[in-house]
Amino acid sequence: MINLLTLATLSVAVVAHDIRNVEHLPRQAPSSSPSASSSAAPGSSTAVPSSGVPSGSSSAASSAAVSGVSGVSGVSGSSVASATPSGLTTLTFTPSSTNPTAFPLQSITANQVSPATIPLSSTPAAGATPLVSGAPTLPDAAAIQSASYPPWDTKPPTDSDEVKQWVQEVTNSGVNIPNIDPTVAGGCPANPQAAADTSRCWWTCGGCVRNTDISDCPDQLTWGLTYDDGPSFYTPNLLTYLDQNELKATFFAVGSRCVQFPHTLQLEYMTGHQIAVHTWSHPPLTTLTNEEIIAELGWTKKVIKDVTGVTPNMMRPPFGDIDALWLVWIFRKCRSTNQKYPTSDRVRAISVAMGLTPVMWSRLGPAATFDTDDFNVHGGLTTSEQVLNNWEGIMANATTRDSGFIVLEHDLFVETVELATGYILPQALAHEPPFKIEPVVQCLNKPMTDAYIETNDNTTNPPAASGAVTLSAGAPGSAQATGTSGAVSLASSTTSSLVAGLLLSLFALQL
Ligand SMILES: [Zn+2]
Repeated sequence: MINLLTLATLSVAVVAHDIRNVEHLPRQAPSSSPSASSSAAPGSSTAVPSSGVPSGSSSAASSAAVSGVSGVSGVSGSSVASATPSGLTTLTFTPSSTNPTAFPLQSITANQVSPATIPLSSTPAAGATPLVSGAPTLPDAAAIQSASYPPWDTKPPTDSDEVKQWVQEVTNSGVNIPNIDPTVAGGCPANPQAAADTSRCWWTCGGCVRNTDISDCPDQLTWGLTYDDGPSFYTPNLLTYLDQNELKATFFAVGSRCVQFPHTLQLEYMTGHQIAVHTWSHPPLTTLTNEEIIAELGWTKKVIKDVTGVTPNMMRPPFGDIDALWLVWIFRKCRSTNQKYPTSDRVRAISVAMGLTPVMWSRLGPAATFDTDDFNVHGGLTTSEQVLNNWEGIMANATTRDSGFIVLEHDLFVETVELATGYILPQALAHEPPFKIEPVVQCLNKPMTDAYIETNDNTTNPPAASGAVTLSAGAPGSAQATGTSGAVSLASSTTSSLVAGLLLSLFALQL
Protein backbone atom coordinates (compact mmCIF):
# COMPACT_ATOMS: atom_id res chain seq x y z
CA MET A 1 0.00 0.00 0.00
CA ILE A 2 2.86 2.29 0.70
CA ASN A 3 4.05 1.78 -2.83
CA LEU A 4 0.61 2.47 -4.18
CA LEU A 5 0.32 5.67 -2.23
CA THR A 6 3.76 6.71 -3.25
CA LEU A 7 2.95 6.17 -6.86
CA ALA A 8 -0.26 8.11 -6.53
CA THR A 9 1.62 10.96 -4.94
CA LEU A 10 4.21 10.93 -7.63
CA SER A 11 1.59 10.92 -10.31
CA VAL A 12 0.13 14.06 -8.82
CA ALA A 13 3.59 15.54 -8.94
CA VAL A 14 3.84 14.58 -12.57
CA VAL A 15 0.60 16.32 -13.38
CA ALA A 16 1.83 19.33 -11.51
CA HIS A 17 4.72 19.51 -13.89
CA ASP A 18 2.48 19.63 -16.91
CA ILE A 19 2.69 16.07 -17.99
CA ARG A 20 0.65 15.33 -20.99
CA ASN A 21 0.20 12.10 -22.76
CA VAL A 22 0.91 12.35 -26.41
CA GLU A 23 1.10 9.66 -28.96
CA HIS A 24 4.44 7.99 -29.15
CA LEU A 25 6.60 9.63 -31.68
CA PRO A 26 8.87 7.71 -34.03
CA ARG A 27 12.47 7.57 -33.05
CA GLN A 28 15.26 7.22 -35.49
CA ALA A 29 18.42 5.28 -35.12
CA PRO A 30 21.75 5.74 -36.86
CA SER A 31 22.53 3.99 -40.05
CA SER A 32 26.12 3.85 -41.06
CA SER A 33 28.23 1.46 -42.99
CA PRO A 34 31.92 0.87 -43.47
CA SER A 35 31.61 2.46 -46.88
CA ALA A 36 30.08 5.60 -45.50
CA SER A 37 32.14 8.74 -45.29
CA SER A 38 33.35 8.20 -41.82
CA SER A 39 36.57 7.69 -40.04
CA ALA A 40 37.64 5.84 -36.96
CA ALA A 41 40.42 8.31 -36.36
CA PRO A 42 39.58 10.55 -33.45
CA GLY A 43 38.56 14.04 -34.31
CA SER A 44 39.36 13.60 -37.94
CA SER A 45 35.96 14.05 -39.41
CA THR A 46 33.15 16.51 -39.28
CA ALA A 47 30.69 14.20 -40.93
CA VAL A 48 27.42 13.57 -39.23
CA PRO A 49 26.08 10.08 -38.79
CA SER A 50 23.18 9.79 -41.13
CA SER A 51 19.88 9.22 -39.52
CA GLY A 52 17.44 6.62 -40.56
CA VAL A 53 15.95 3.39 -39.51
CA PRO A 54 18.46 0.60 -39.21
CA SER A 55 17.92 -2.23 -41.57
CA GLY A 56 16.65 -5.25 -39.81
CA SER A 57 14.38 -3.08 -37.77
CA SER A 58 11.36 -1.92 -39.63
CA SER A 59 10.00 -0.48 -36.46
CA ALA A 60 11.36 2.71 -35.10
CA ALA A 61 11.03 3.16 -31.41
CA SER A 62 9.35 6.15 -30.09
CA SER A 63 9.24 8.37 -27.12
CA ALA A 64 6.49 10.64 -26.06
CA ALA A 65 7.64 14.13 -25.38
CA VAL A 66 6.13 15.60 -22.31
CA SER A 67 7.05 18.34 -20.02
CA GLY A 68 8.95 17.01 -17.11
CA VAL A 69 8.79 13.32 -17.61
CA SER A 70 8.30 11.77 -20.95
CA GLY A 71 5.92 9.06 -21.87
CA VAL A 72 6.70 5.45 -22.22
CA SER A 73 9.17 4.68 -24.92
CA GLY A 74 7.44 2.39 -27.30
CA VAL A 75 7.82 0.98 -30.71
CA SER A 76 5.99 2.57 -33.53
CA GLY A 77 5.30 1.27 -36.96
CA SER A 78 5.94 4.69 -38.35
CA SER A 79 9.44 5.74 -39.19
CA VAL A 80 8.80 9.05 -40.89
CA ALA A 81 9.80 12.07 -38.96
CA SER A 82 7.23 14.75 -38.62
CA ALA A 83 8.08 18.00 -40.33
CA THR A 84 6.75 19.95 -37.41
CA PRO A 85 8.28 19.57 -33.98
CA SER A 86 5.67 18.68 -31.44
CA GLY A 87 7.38 20.29 -28.49
CA LEU A 88 7.17 23.75 -27.10
CA THR A 89 9.51 26.33 -28.56
CA THR A 90 9.77 28.34 -25.39
CA LEU A 91 11.19 27.43 -22.03
CA THR A 92 8.75 27.25 -19.17
CA PHE A 93 11.45 27.98 -16.62
CA THR A 94 14.62 30.00 -16.21
CA PRO A 95 17.73 27.79 -16.27
CA SER A 96 19.77 28.05 -13.12
CA SER A 97 22.97 27.62 -15.07
CA THR A 98 24.13 27.20 -18.62
CA ASN A 99 27.51 26.67 -20.19
CA PRO A 100 28.86 30.09 -21.33
CA THR A 101 30.23 28.45 -24.46
CA ALA A 102 27.00 26.64 -25.25
CA PHE A 103 25.37 26.95 -28.62
CA PRO A 104 22.31 29.19 -28.49
CA LEU A 105 19.32 27.03 -27.79
CA GLN A 106 17.53 28.31 -30.87
CA SER A 107 20.34 26.97 -33.05
CA ILE A 108 20.11 23.43 -31.71
CA THR A 109 17.54 22.24 -34.16
CA ALA A 110 16.90 19.32 -36.43
CA ASN A 111 19.70 18.77 -38.89
CA GLN A 112 21.52 21.89 -37.81
CA VAL A 113 24.74 22.70 -39.56
CA SER A 114 27.18 20.63 -37.60
CA PRO A 115 30.18 22.24 -36.05
CA ALA A 116 33.58 20.69 -36.30
CA THR A 117 34.14 17.94 -33.84
CA ILE A 118 36.93 18.41 -31.41
CA PRO A 119 39.77 15.92 -31.20
CA LEU A 120 39.91 13.40 -28.43
CA SER A 121 41.80 14.82 -25.49
CA SER A 122 44.19 11.92 -25.75
CA THR A 123 44.60 8.64 -27.53
CA PRO A 124 45.34 5.86 -25.09
CA ALA A 125 48.30 3.73 -26.07
CA ALA A 126 48.15 0.02 -26.61
CA GLY A 127 49.48 -1.74 -23.56
CA ALA A 128 48.46 1.03 -21.17
CA THR A 129 47.24 0.02 -17.73
CA PRO A 130 43.53 0.76 -17.13
CA LEU A 131 42.22 2.42 -14.00
CA VAL A 132 40.08 -0.64 -13.27
CA SER A 133 42.00 -2.79 -10.85
CA GLY A 134 42.92 -6.17 -12.21
CA ALA A 135 41.96 -5.36 -15.80
CA PRO A 136 44.21 -6.51 -18.62
CA THR A 137 46.34 -3.95 -20.43
CA LEU A 138 44.70 -1.98 -23.22
CA PRO A 139 44.49 -3.73 -26.62
CA ASP A 140 45.69 -2.05 -29.81
CA ALA A 141 42.79 -0.13 -31.35
CA ALA A 142 44.50 -0.28 -34.73
CA ALA A 143 43.87 -3.99 -34.73
CA ILE A 144 40.11 -3.44 -34.87
CA GLN A 145 39.16 -4.15 -38.46
CA SER A 146 35.63 -4.02 -39.86
CA ALA A 147 36.22 -7.21 -41.81
CA SER A 148 36.43 -9.12 -38.55
CA TYR A 149 32.89 -8.17 -37.58
CA PRO A 150 29.39 -8.27 -39.06
CA PRO A 151 28.33 -5.39 -41.31
CA TRP A 152 27.43 -2.29 -39.37
CA ASP A 153 23.88 -1.55 -38.34
CA THR A 154 22.33 -4.76 -39.57
CA LYS A 155 21.32 -7.84 -37.65
CA PRO A 156 24.35 -10.13 -37.55
CA PRO A 157 23.89 -13.51 -39.22
CA THR A 158 23.14 -16.35 -36.84
CA ASP A 159 25.01 -19.09 -38.70
CA SER A 160 28.52 -17.90 -37.90
CA ASP A 161 30.82 -19.94 -35.72
CA GLU A 162 30.82 -17.17 -33.13
CA VAL A 163 27.06 -17.04 -32.78
CA LYS A 164 26.81 -20.82 -32.71
CA GLN A 165 29.26 -20.80 -29.82
CA TRP A 166 27.31 -18.13 -27.94
CA VAL A 167 24.07 -20.06 -28.46
CA GLN A 168 25.77 -23.08 -26.95
CA GLU A 169 26.97 -20.99 -24.04
CA VAL A 170 23.43 -19.80 -23.40
CA THR A 171 22.34 -23.42 -23.51
CA ASN A 172 25.03 -24.35 -21.03
CA SER A 173 24.17 -21.46 -18.71
CA GLY A 174 21.17 -23.29 -17.40
CA VAL A 175 18.99 -20.21 -17.59
CA ASN A 176 15.42 -20.88 -18.61
CA ILE A 177 14.73 -19.34 -22.03
CA PRO A 178 10.95 -19.11 -22.42
CA ASN A 179 9.27 -20.52 -25.48
CA ILE A 180 7.41 -17.59 -26.96
CA ASP A 181 7.33 -16.05 -30.39
CA PRO A 182 9.00 -12.72 -31.11
CA THR A 183 6.72 -9.74 -31.29
CA VAL A 184 5.87 -8.33 -34.68
CA ALA A 185 7.83 -5.26 -35.75
CA GLY A 186 5.78 -2.18 -35.12
CA GLY A 187 5.46 -2.31 -31.38
CA CYS A 188 2.22 -1.91 -29.50
CA PRO A 189 -0.01 -1.00 -32.46
CA ALA A 190 1.21 -4.00 -34.41
CA ASN A 191 0.79 -6.36 -31.48
CA PRO A 192 -2.70 -5.49 -30.25
CA GLN A 193 -3.34 -8.84 -28.63
CA ALA A 194 -0.16 -8.72 -26.61
CA ALA A 195 -0.59 -5.04 -25.83
CA ALA A 196 -4.19 -5.52 -24.70
CA ASP A 197 -3.44 -8.57 -22.61
CA THR A 198 -3.72 -7.16 -19.13
CA SER A 199 -1.79 -10.06 -17.69
CA ARG A 200 1.12 -9.40 -20.00
CA CYS A 201 3.70 -7.08 -18.54
CA TRP A 202 5.62 -5.82 -21.55
CA TRP A 203 7.82 -2.82 -20.76
CA THR A 204 7.24 -1.28 -24.15
CA CYS A 205 3.45 -1.49 -23.98
CA GLY A 206 2.64 -0.53 -20.45
CA GLY A 207 5.89 0.12 -18.71
CA CYS A 208 6.30 -2.96 -16.59
CA VAL A 209 9.57 -3.18 -14.75
CA ARG A 210 10.86 -6.04 -12.73
CA ASN A 211 12.38 -5.57 -9.36
CA THR A 212 15.43 -7.31 -10.71
CA ASP A 213 16.05 -4.66 -13.38
CA ILE A 214 18.22 -1.71 -12.57
CA SER A 215 16.10 1.36 -13.17
CA ASP A 216 16.97 3.58 -10.23
CA CYS A 217 19.92 4.37 -8.03
CA PRO A 218 19.10 3.50 -4.44
CA ASP A 219 20.28 6.68 -2.73
CA GLN A 220 18.23 9.85 -2.87
CA LEU A 221 19.55 12.66 -5.09
CA THR A 222 21.98 10.27 -6.77
CA TRP A 223 21.95 10.34 -10.57
CA GLY A 224 23.23 7.34 -12.49
CA LEU A 225 24.44 9.25 -15.55
CA THR A 226 24.04 7.35 -18.83
CA TYR A 227 24.47 7.98 -22.54
CA ASP A 228 23.27 5.64 -25.28
CA ASP A 229 24.00 4.88 -28.94
CA GLY A 230 27.63 6.01 -29.16
CA PRO A 231 30.49 6.32 -29.57
CA SER A 232 29.87 8.96 -32.20
CA PHE A 233 31.58 11.88 -33.90
CA TYR A 234 30.39 14.11 -31.05
CA THR A 235 31.27 11.90 -28.10
CA PRO A 236 34.69 13.62 -27.74
CA ASN A 237 32.87 16.91 -27.11
CA LEU A 238 30.92 15.26 -24.32
CA LEU A 239 33.99 13.53 -22.90
CA THR A 240 35.83 16.84 -22.76
CA TYR A 241 33.03 18.47 -20.78
CA LEU A 242 32.73 15.50 -18.44
CA ASP A 243 36.47 15.56 -17.85
CA GLN A 244 36.50 19.31 -17.17
CA ASN A 245 33.81 18.84 -14.57
CA GLU A 246 35.15 15.58 -13.13
CA LEU A 247 32.03 13.65 -14.05
CA LYS A 248 31.88 9.98 -14.93
CA ALA A 249 29.11 8.24 -16.85
CA THR A 250 27.94 4.89 -18.11
CA PHE A 251 28.06 4.58 -21.89
CA PHE A 252 25.69 2.03 -23.45
CA ALA A 253 27.66 1.43 -26.61
CA VAL A 254 26.39 0.16 -29.96
CA GLY A 255 28.70 -2.53 -31.32
CA SER A 256 28.81 -1.07 -34.82
CA ARG A 257 29.90 2.28 -33.40
CA CYS A 258 32.64 0.60 -31.37
CA VAL A 259 34.19 -0.69 -34.60
CA GLN A 260 33.80 2.76 -36.12
CA PHE A 261 35.23 4.66 -33.14
CA PRO A 262 37.52 2.35 -31.16
CA HIS A 263 39.76 5.18 -29.96
CA THR A 264 36.77 6.99 -28.47
CA LEU A 265 35.60 3.87 -26.69
CA GLN A 266 39.09 3.35 -25.33
CA LEU A 267 39.24 6.90 -24.00
CA GLU A 268 35.86 6.47 -22.29
CA TYR A 269 37.09 3.31 -20.62
CA MET A 270 40.56 4.56 -19.72
CA THR A 271 39.29 7.76 -18.11
CA GLY A 272 37.00 6.01 -15.66
CA HIS A 273 33.68 5.82 -17.45
CA GLN A 274 31.68 2.61 -17.42
CA ILE A 275 31.12 0.76 -20.68
CA ALA A 276 27.99 -1.34 -21.17
CA VAL A 277 26.19 -3.12 -24.02
CA HIS A 278 23.49 -1.60 -26.24
CA THR A 279 23.37 -4.24 -29.05
CA TRP A 280 25.06 -4.39 -32.44
CA SER A 281 22.45 -2.78 -34.70
CA HIS A 282 19.95 -1.25 -32.27
CA PRO A 283 16.81 -3.30 -32.99
CA PRO A 284 13.82 -3.69 -30.67
CA LEU A 285 14.90 -6.96 -29.12
CA THR A 286 11.49 -8.51 -28.53
CA THR A 287 11.04 -8.66 -32.31
CA LEU A 288 14.06 -10.91 -32.75
CA THR A 289 14.48 -14.65 -32.49
CA ASN A 290 16.50 -16.04 -29.63
CA GLU A 291 19.50 -16.57 -31.88
CA GLU A 292 19.25 -13.05 -33.27
CA ILE A 293 19.19 -11.61 -29.75
CA ILE A 294 22.24 -13.69 -28.85
CA ALA A 295 24.04 -12.43 -31.98
CA GLU A 296 23.22 -8.78 -31.20
CA LEU A 297 24.46 -9.01 -27.63
CA GLY A 298 27.32 -11.38 -28.35
CA TRP A 299 28.98 -9.30 -31.06
CA THR A 300 28.70 -6.17 -28.94
CA LYS A 301 30.27 -7.91 -25.97
CA LYS A 302 33.03 -9.17 -28.24
CA VAL A 303 33.94 -5.86 -29.86
CA ILE A 304 33.99 -4.10 -26.50
CA LYS A 305 36.28 -6.83 -25.18
CA ASP A 306 38.48 -6.54 -28.28
CA VAL A 307 38.76 -2.76 -27.91
CA THR A 308 39.06 -2.42 -24.14
CA GLY A 309 40.16 -5.82 -22.91
CA VAL A 310 37.14 -6.24 -20.65
CA THR A 311 33.59 -7.50 -21.10
CA PRO A 312 30.65 -5.49 -19.70
CA ASN A 313 28.05 -7.17 -17.51
CA MET A 314 25.28 -4.61 -17.96
CA MET A 315 23.08 -3.96 -20.98
CA ARG A 316 20.30 -1.60 -21.98
CA PRO A 317 17.74 -2.83 -24.51
CA PRO A 318 17.26 -0.36 -27.37
CA PHE A 319 14.03 1.58 -26.90
CA GLY A 320 13.72 -0.16 -23.52
CA ASP A 321 12.13 -3.02 -25.44
CA ILE A 322 12.27 -5.89 -23.00
CA ASP A 323 9.58 -8.35 -22.07
CA ALA A 324 8.04 -9.99 -19.06
CA LEU A 325 4.91 -11.69 -17.94
CA TRP A 326 5.00 -10.56 -14.41
CA LEU A 327 1.62 -11.56 -13.07
CA VAL A 328 1.90 -15.05 -14.48
CA TRP A 329 5.32 -15.22 -12.89
CA ILE A 330 3.86 -14.19 -9.53
CA PHE A 331 1.04 -16.71 -9.75
CA ARG A 332 3.44 -19.42 -10.70
CA LYS A 333 5.63 -18.49 -7.80
CA CYS A 334 2.62 -18.71 -5.54
CA ARG A 335 1.88 -22.16 -6.86
CA SER A 336 5.47 -23.12 -6.11
CA THR A 337 6.10 -24.35 -9.59
CA ASN A 338 9.76 -23.51 -9.25
CA GLN A 339 9.44 -21.13 -12.17
CA LYS A 340 12.08 -18.49 -11.67
CA TYR A 341 11.33 -16.42 -14.75
CA PRO A 342 8.08 -15.27 -16.25
CA THR A 343 7.10 -17.53 -19.11
CA SER A 344 7.52 -14.73 -21.62
CA ASP A 345 10.51 -13.06 -20.05
CA ARG A 346 12.60 -13.98 -23.04
CA VAL A 347 14.92 -11.03 -23.64
CA ARG A 348 15.73 -10.75 -19.95
CA ALA A 349 16.47 -14.46 -19.71
CA ILE A 350 18.82 -14.40 -22.70
CA SER A 351 20.56 -11.31 -21.35
CA VAL A 352 21.10 -12.94 -18.00
CA ALA A 353 22.30 -16.13 -19.63
CA MET A 354 24.91 -14.01 -21.40
CA GLY A 355 25.99 -12.38 -18.15
CA LEU A 356 24.23 -9.06 -18.80
CA THR A 357 21.98 -7.33 -16.27
CA PRO A 358 19.34 -5.05 -17.87
CA VAL A 359 19.54 -1.37 -17.00
CA MET A 360 16.47 0.73 -17.76
CA TRP A 361 15.72 4.31 -16.72
CA SER A 362 13.59 5.68 -13.94
CA ARG A 363 9.84 5.48 -14.19
CA LEU A 364 7.13 7.26 -12.27
CA GLY A 365 4.23 5.32 -13.68
CA PRO A 366 2.97 3.47 -16.72
CA ALA A 367 3.26 6.53 -18.94
CA ALA A 368 5.98 8.59 -17.33
CA THR A 369 9.68 7.89 -17.53
CA PHE A 370 12.82 9.93 -17.01
CA ASP A 371 13.38 10.31 -20.74
CA THR A 372 14.62 13.72 -21.86
CA ASP A 373 13.51 12.88 -25.42
CA ASP A 374 16.79 14.42 -26.58
CA PHE A 375 17.05 11.85 -29.36
CA ASN A 376 14.13 13.30 -31.24
CA VAL A 377 15.57 16.78 -31.74
CA HIS A 378 17.77 15.52 -34.57
CA GLY A 379 14.81 14.13 -36.48
CA GLY A 380 12.70 17.23 -35.96
CA LEU A 381 10.20 15.48 -33.75
CA THR A 382 10.69 17.73 -30.78
CA THR A 383 12.47 20.93 -29.88
CA SER A 384 15.49 21.69 -27.77
CA GLU A 385 13.29 23.89 -25.62
CA GLN A 386 10.93 20.98 -25.00
CA VAL A 387 13.85 18.73 -24.05
CA LEU A 388 14.94 21.24 -21.44
CA ASN A 389 11.37 21.57 -20.18
CA ASN A 390 11.39 17.79 -19.85
CA TRP A 391 14.68 17.98 -18.00
CA GLU A 392 13.39 20.61 -15.61
CA GLY A 393 10.47 18.36 -14.74
CA ILE A 394 12.73 15.37 -14.28
CA MET A 395 14.90 17.31 -11.85
CA ALA A 396 11.85 18.47 -9.91
CA ASN A 397 10.63 14.92 -9.53
CA ALA A 398 14.12 13.61 -8.84
CA THR A 399 14.44 16.05 -5.98
CA THR A 400 11.38 14.78 -4.14
CA ARG A 401 11.54 11.02 -4.75
CA ASP A 402 12.84 8.63 -2.16
CA SER A 403 15.49 7.03 -4.36
CA GLY A 404 18.06 8.19 -6.84
CA PHE A 405 17.38 8.13 -10.54
CA ILE A 406 18.55 7.23 -14.04
CA VAL A 407 17.75 9.34 -17.11
CA LEU A 408 17.68 8.45 -20.80
CA GLU A 409 20.11 10.57 -22.87
CA HIS A 410 22.22 9.98 -25.95
CA ASP A 411 25.70 10.86 -27.19
CA LEU A 412 24.91 10.07 -30.83
CA PHE A 413 23.94 13.38 -32.35
CA VAL A 414 25.41 16.85 -32.19
CA GLU A 415 22.10 18.12 -30.82
CA THR A 416 22.03 15.67 -27.93
CA VAL A 417 25.61 16.42 -26.96
CA GLU A 418 25.10 20.18 -27.19
CA LEU A 419 22.03 19.97 -25.00
CA ALA A 420 23.93 17.84 -22.48
CA THR A 421 27.04 19.98 -22.28
CA GLY A 422 25.42 23.34 -22.79
CA TYR A 423 22.37 23.05 -20.59
CA ILE A 424 21.45 19.75 -18.92
CA LEU A 425 24.72 19.06 -17.12
CA PRO A 426 25.38 22.69 -16.09
CA GLN A 427 21.92 22.88 -14.62
CA ALA A 428 22.42 19.58 -12.80
CA LEU A 429 25.72 20.76 -11.37
CA ALA A 430 24.09 23.94 -10.08
CA HIS A 431 21.13 22.10 -8.57
CA GLU A 432 20.33 22.57 -4.89
CA PRO A 433 20.32 20.29 -3.07
CA PRO A 434 23.24 18.92 -5.06
CA PHE A 435 23.01 15.74 -7.07
CA LYS A 436 25.63 13.05 -6.68
CA ILE A 437 26.42 12.11 -10.28
CA GLU A 438 27.97 8.72 -10.93
CA PRO A 439 28.12 5.83 -13.41
CA VAL A 440 25.37 3.28 -12.81
CA VAL A 441 27.58 0.66 -11.22
CA GLN A 442 28.86 3.17 -8.69
CA CYS A 443 25.44 4.65 -7.95
CA LEU A 444 24.58 1.12 -6.88
CA ASN A 445 27.38 1.49 -4.34
CA LYS A 446 29.57 -1.01 -6.15
CA PRO A 447 33.14 -0.53 -7.35
CA MET A 448 33.94 -0.12 -11.05
CA THR A 449 35.58 -3.54 -10.96
CA ASP A 450 32.08 -4.98 -10.63
CA ALA A 451 31.18 -3.63 -14.07
CA TYR A 452 33.24 -6.12 -16.07
CA ILE A 453 33.28 -9.89 -16.13
CA GLU A 454 37.09 -10.06 -16.03
CA THR A 455 37.46 -7.84 -12.96
CA ASN A 456 34.31 -8.68 -11.01
CA ASP A 457 35.27 -10.89 -8.08
CA ASN A 458 31.58 -11.74 -7.61
CA THR A 459 31.56 -10.76 -3.95
CA THR A 460 29.31 -7.73 -4.27
CA ASN A 461 27.92 -8.39 -7.73
CA PRO A 462 27.37 -12.12 -8.19
CA PRO A 463 26.43 -13.28 -11.68
CA ALA A 464 23.25 -15.12 -12.40
CA ALA A 465 23.63 -18.63 -11.18
CA SER A 466 23.21 -21.60 -13.41
CA GLY A 467 20.41 -24.03 -12.90
CA ALA A 468 19.39 -27.04 -14.86
CA VAL A 469 17.60 -25.50 -17.80
CA THR A 470 18.67 -25.86 -21.38
CA LEU A 471 17.92 -23.95 -24.55
CA SER A 472 16.39 -26.50 -26.82
CA ALA A 473 17.74 -27.03 -30.29
CA GLY A 474 15.48 -26.15 -33.13
CA ALA A 475 14.50 -23.43 -35.48
CA PRO A 476 15.32 -19.87 -34.53
CA GLY A 477 12.77 -18.59 -32.11
CA SER A 478 11.64 -22.02 -31.13
CA ALA A 479 13.96 -22.46 -28.20
CA GLN A 480 12.19 -23.54 -25.11
CA ALA A 481 12.86 -24.53 -21.60
CA THR A 482 13.40 -28.16 -20.93
CA GLY A 483 13.73 -27.89 -17.24
CA THR A 484 13.67 -25.44 -14.42
CA SER A 485 16.34 -23.50 -12.76
CA GLY A 486 16.83 -23.81 -9.10
CA ALA A 487 19.14 -20.92 -8.41
CA VAL A 488 18.79 -17.99 -10.76
CA SER A 489 19.86 -15.18 -8.51
CA LEU A 490 18.60 -12.38 -10.72
CA ALA A 491 15.06 -13.55 -10.18
CA SER A 492 15.34 -13.67 -6.47
CA SER A 493 12.37 -12.12 -4.81
CA THR A 494 10.71 -11.64 -1.50
CA THR A 495 7.11 -11.66 -0.49
CA SER A 496 7.18 -7.93 0.01
CA SER A 497 8.61 -7.27 -3.43
CA LEU A 498 6.00 -9.49 -4.98
CA VAL A 499 3.25 -7.60 -3.19
CA ALA A 500 4.78 -4.32 -4.27
CA GLY A 501 4.99 -5.59 -7.81
CA LEU A 502 1.39 -6.74 -7.79
CA LEU A 503 0.28 -3.35 -6.51
CA LEU A 504 2.29 -1.65 -9.20
CA SER A 505 0.77 -3.84 -11.86
CA LEU A 506 -2.77 -3.30 -10.60
CA PHE A 507 -2.11 0.41 -10.38
CA ALA A 508 -0.86 0.35 -13.94
CA LEU A 509 -3.99 -1.34 -15.15
CA GLN A 510 -6.16 1.34 -13.65
CA LEU A 511 -4.55 4.13 -15.66
ZN1 LIG B 1 19.57 3.42 -28.09
